[in-house]
Formats: sequence, structure tokens, C-alpha cells
Amino acid sequence: MKSTFIFPVMTIIILFSMSACGPNKTDLSDNPFFSEWNTPFGVPPFDKIKFEHYQPALEEGMKQQKAEIDSIANNTEAPTFENTVAALDASGELLSKVSSVFFNMLSANTSDSLQQLAQDMAPAMTQHSDDIMLNGKLFERIKTVYDSRESLDYEAQKLTEITYTDFVRSGALLNDKDKKRLREVNEKLAVLDLQFGDHVMADNNAFQMVLEKEDDLVGLPQSVIDGAAQLAEENGISGKWLFTADKPSMIPFLQYSDRRDLREKIYRGYFMRGDYGNENDNKDLIVQIVSLRLERANLLGYENHASFILDRNMSKNPENVYDLLMKIWDAALPVAKTEAADMQKMIDAEGGDFELATWDWWYYSEKIRKEKYDLDEEMLRPYFSLENVREGIFLLSNKLYGITFKKIEDIPVYHPDAYAYEVLDNDGSHLAVLYMDFHPRASKQGGAWCTSYRDQHVSNGKNITPVVSIVMNFTSPNGDSPALLNLDEVLTFFHEFGHALHGFFSDVTYKRLSGFVPRDFVELPSQVMEHWALHPEMLKLYAKHYETGEVIPDELIKKIEESSHFNQGFATVEYLAASLLDMDYHTLTDVSDLDVIEFENSAMKKIGLIKEILPRYRSTYFNHIFSGGYSAGYYSYIWSEVLDSDVFEAFVESGDIFNKELAAKFRKEILAPGGLQDALDMFVNFRGREPQVDALLRNRGLK
Ligand SMILES: [Zn+2]
Repeated sequence: MKSTFIFPVMTIIILFSMSACGPNKTDLSDNPFFSEWNTPFGVPPFDKIKFEHYQPALEEGMKQQKAEIDSIANNTEAPTFENTVAALDASGELLSKVSSVFFNMLSANTSDSLQQLAQDMAPAMTQHSDDIMLNGKLFERIKTVYDSRESLDYEAQKLTEITYTDFVRSGALLNDKDKKRLREVNEKLAVLDLQFGDHVMADNNAFQMVLEKEDDLVGLPQSVIDGAAQLAEENGISGKWLFTADKPSMIPFLQYSDRRDLREKIYRGYFMRGDYGNENDNKDLIVQIVSLRLERANLLGYENHASFILDRNMSKNPENVYDLLMKIWDAALPVAKTEAADMQKMIDAEGGDFELATWDWWYYSEKIRKEKYDLDEEMLRPYFSLENVREGIFLLSNKLYGITFKKIEDIPVYHPDAYAYEVLDNDGSHLAVLYMDFHPRASKQGGAWCTSYRDQHVSNGKNITPVVSIVMNFTSPNGDSPALLNLDEVLTFFHEFGHALHGFFSDVTYKRLSGFVPRDFVELPSQVMEHWALHPEMLKLYAKHYETGEVIPDELIKKIEESSHFNQGFATVEYLAASLLDMDYHTLTDVSDLDVIEFENSAMKKIGLIKEILPRYRSTYFNHIFSGGYSAGYYSYIWSEVLDSDVFEAFVESGDIFNKELAAKFRKEILAPGGLQDALDMFVNFRGREPQVDALLRNRGLK
């Protein structure tokens, strides 16, 4: 699942220079970015923000920050922590204000014009960020503070170290020629990253499978048929049934449709995205992106892009990542092979004269699940209405941390589907604002993610509380019935909510420290929440039939438990395959002959991926690594899973999965410190020892 956490603040110091465009006649006085936000809790006044406001506000934000940076760099007083490092951290307030809204809208409520604007601006924005990070005078001052950092208090020391490293990793130590080249590389990459994501979205939206005959629907549950009819109606083709390459539409079709030809058709619509050879083809972009990333790593003194990225992660280097991935791969591949063999047996027994293919997996695994565990995913949905799941998550958060949630009726939203809650701490004080936005629409990127409009920090002695948002693409309400989630969606909800908790509980002084969490640690707070989601004790608290209010029967809970290891070979293998593909691209030290399809095939052959399974993301739509912030980082989910499985076992070992004391310790040691602590130290502080992989293997039934 796509999960973007709060981006490090440094990525938000990207600005926009408008010098190439003509005079702008927009009246600045009614631009909401230029006035104080008198909204509840100072959230963005979405109702007043219009497309034409972004450009001038970004321009002005850039101008203001540039002036702030100049005055820090040219200060005639000797460099101190306050007049240099802290001043830098506090700079760019207007810019953060605008860009946080701008980039969030680009994912959650975009339009052609917004995407075009982002693309047009990308080179100038990157250039401006580089103007700060490659500012020699500024770096000299930071280095002076860094060299005498022992005299600072702990938090100031941490901020100074992180800031110094940010600058070094952005090229501050390079000579002028290399700095110039680095700027060019960054600018190109910024544009290519955006194009990659736009291409995937365009191919995704272009694919439609319109069904016109009842025959085409054979095998599908009524709820799936109704959903497809509604989607058709919304798209102006009432009386027909529409399926798309969005997962909430495609997965149920793959699970239930008896029509093998149509399963193949829809799955192709998914896995061919970015690979049609049309104007959205991503193969050439991948070659350019991989090659530019390698060049940048080399400029900065690293052997390859992965080494550059991992240097700052908990894993430290590619060897450690490959070690863990292959350890789990070796345990999972035989399990996946057995699963495939079981399905082939079923096909043969039914007299099907064909070999199991990738588009058959969901269909036969669903059948086997039914046969083995008498469990049909569809019969679970009524117990997982969106509202009940949300209330369950609120309840869990309350049982663990004592926090409560209050719906805010009168607050600006960026789309009618989004709504907001006030989060109150265990003493009743204001903790955060949480936006939620649940269902797919054409203006939203696919997947699910957690993001923020404002990170917790202290400004002029005042605690600035976070504004967090979770954005999903869940099954929509259907006619009279509410949105009924499948188990995967339930887990996703708990997951993203874990990121949100991480945002709520941040307790630092400086902005940069709030956002600074290593990629391979950041999925710990989110994934640990998934362990509660389907735990029998938890299920009894929230899984209630949406019509009758009946608590999910023990018999169904037992079935969920018994089948919890079901299909884990597949899930683990398709995930690891994508993680290894990511690592393979980014450990390349020579890109001259890169052929994307050939490279992908040989990477998969090397690890022995079976032909019945595709990597969870093929190269041409692997947004995480070519358009998001997860390059050489897709492994992070399983790296973090080692940690979260181990953390949850601490709760189980205590005899109380809602253990408040442990939760308080988790909040203090893991969720609050941000960049204040080293990731491994945080884990050890909580668990009392280093992480062990066994809990993960047990949890996935691979041991
Ligand atoms: Zn996540």
C-alpha cells in the first residue's frame, strides 16, 4: 500500500521563482495565503483558496525566504546556534504554508491545470531549494556552529547535526563545477518524477472495462455488480457495468469473476500501465531517472544511489537490506510454490485445461480460502462498515493513549468527501486536527497515505499543534448501504492511522526534528496498528453488523484467525520481489545498457520468482520508487515489520494487548522523539534489547 508519511521539512523548502513568466496581475489582497488564517485551529481556508492563488503565493514565499536566508548568511555577528541553525529552521513560514496545501492538493484533489503548474514550476522550485542548500556562506556558518556543537543543549545539538548532514548530502562540500552539475541533475529529476506519476495516473484513468451483458458478470457477488453499475452511471453509461484498474474495482473482479478472459483483460489494464509504448510510456523515463540518481550519488561520493539513501537509514547499507530480504525470501518462496501447486490441483480437478496464470491467483486463492476455511471475504464486509471501523480505531487510540476525538462540523474542507476531527489529549487539551478522505475519485491519486498540513513544533515559545490528513481509496457506499470494507482496507485504515498518531504525538522544538524519521523506521508506528486490527479482543469491540449491530460471531473470528496465514507466501513474495527490484535498480553502478523490461525480467529470474506471480509493482508503474520518496526504500515496510512484530509481542507478553503503561512507553520512546533519537536507540529504549526477526516469521506463518 502506498503510504507517504509527513515529508521531512527540507523537502518543503522547495520554492518557486517566477522570473520566466510575465507580470502577474492577480490582486494580492484577496489571496488567502497572504493573510492570517482565522479558521478553527488555523487550518487552511480551503473554501477560499483558488487555483490562481498558488503561483503568486509561492513566488512571494520564495522571495521572503530568500531574504531571510540572505540575512542569516550575511549576518556580521559571529555564527551562533540561534542566529544560524535555529533561524534557518524557522525560515520560510509562508512558503511552508503554501506548499503544504499545494502538494497535498496535487495528490488528493488535483486537476490538469494543477499538475501542469507543478510541472512548470518544478525546475525553478528545485533551483531555489538548491540555492539554499548550496549557499556557501550559509554553510560556512552552519559548519562553525557544528564544529563547536558540544557546548549546545541536546536538542540544539541534534538539530545542528541533522542540518549539517542535510547540507553535506545536498552537495555543500562540492566544488563549483560539481555543484552546478548537481543542480542540473536535481532539476531534471524533479520534472521526471512528476511526469512518471502523471503517466501512471493517465494510463490508469484511460483503462475502462465496460460490460454490457449479464453473462459477463457471472460469479460476481451482487454488491460488486451494484458497485460497477453505479460507477457506470457516474460515468454517463447507465445500464452497463464499469470496472477500472483501481484496486477497489479490480480486486473483487479478480477474486470472483468466473470469466477467465475478462480477468486477464482487467489485470492487463493494471499491469501494463506505463508500458504501452504510448505517450504515457515510462520505460525511457526510468532509464533517465536511474541514470541521473547514480550520477548524483557518484558526485556526492557514494558508489550508487542505494548507498547514498541507506547511509541515513537504520539499515545503513545495501548489504544489510539484501541480507534481510533474502532471509525472508528463502522462507517465503517455498510457501508460495505450495500455494500455486494447490491452485493448479484445483484447476485440474475442475477439468480446466490450462496453467495457473497471474490473473488467476486471486480467483483460485479465494476459492481455496472458501474450501479450506469456509470463509468468504464478502460475508465479512457487513461487519466492517467504514463508520464502525473508524469508531474502533478511535476506541483503540483511547484505550492505549487516553486520547479522544470530536467531529468539527464547521471547518473548511478541500472536497465535500473530506471531514475533520479535533484530537484531544488524555488531559483534555487540544492535540491535533485530523482530516480524513476515504473514497476514490478521478482527482485523487491511487493508494492510501498519511500527510500533514502542519507539523508539530515550537514557534516563539508557543507549541504549534499538527494538522494531519489521511487519504484513502476505499470501497464507496453503494445505494442505500454504507461503505463496507474488506479486510485489506480495514488493515490499511489502521495502518494510516498509525502514521497519524505518530504525527499527533510528536514532541520537539524544531520543525526539522518533527519530520526527521528514517524511512525504514517510519512504518513501525503504522504497521504496529495492524496487529490490533484483527486481534479477536479488538474485533469484538468494533466489528459489528452495520444493520443489526450484532457483534461479529466467534465462529467468524475463529475463521479469520485460522486463515490469517493463508496466502502469505504470495503476499510476501510479491512484496519482496518489488523490494528487490527497487534495490537492484538503485545498486547499479553502470546504467549505459539499461533495458527496463529485460532488467526486470532478469532481476526476477535471478531470485527465482515463479511465473504465476508478478512483483507487486512492475517497473513502469512503481510510483513509490520513481515518483514518490521510496527509492531504495520499498524494503522499508518489511524492515519496519521486523520492529512492529517485535513491539506487538511485547504487548502480548504483558498479558494485556491494551496495556496502558506499555502504550505510554511506546508514545514516549518511539512516537514523540522524531529526529531527537537514533532509530535503533529508540527501539532498544522501548524493548530493552535489539530487534529480532522471529516474531515477523511467526506472524506470517513462515516459521
Ligand atoms: Zn505507511
